[in-house]
Amino acid sequence: MLDFPLKTGVLAEIRGKKEGPTVALRADIDALPILEETHLPFASKVPGKMHACGHDFHTAAILGAARLLKEQEDAIEGTVKIVFQPSEENGGGAERTLETGALDDVQAIFGMHNKPDLPVGTIGITDGPLMAGVDRFEIELKAWARMPRHRKRALIHSSSRHMLLQLSKRL
Ligand SMILES: [Zn+2]
Repeated sequence: MLDFPLKTGVLAEIRGKKEGPTVALRADIDALPILEETHLPFASKVPGKMHACGHDFHTAAILGAARLLKEQEDAIEGTVKIVFQPSEENGGGAERTLETGALDDVQAIFGMHNKPDLPVGTIGITDGPLMAGVDRFEIELKAWARMPRHRKRALIHSSSRHMLLQLSKRL
């Protein structure tokens, strides 16, 4: 474990016995403010907090990789930093991680994010950023009903707009 000034982030290092480059494996760790109702054996035990984005899997995968690397550290040529990065969901976590200087000596960073729409067993790769960026916005929907009995129709109209926005967000 290394000193890491971010409140919820964790940084570790596996130093090989031989000289070589320094690379990093990065996992995002934060949860979303959602009540998990999946009833899966690995469901969140904290009401109102859920790893709906799969960050619990990312954390477990990087922990597993770190364990395997530590078991084979004599064969590693270089250093592997393990980064558990906070604030992916809120945005800015990567920037704050870089600002600590903890990765200044890193020549390459390998990150991953699950993508449930890919078939099981498929790994998608790309060079450069992927799935990077957080956008937040607020929309105020107003419905007008001439007659009180039409309020329900106006509400349904607003709700269907909201559903369309959610669908378009997934495309
Ligand atoms: Zn995510």
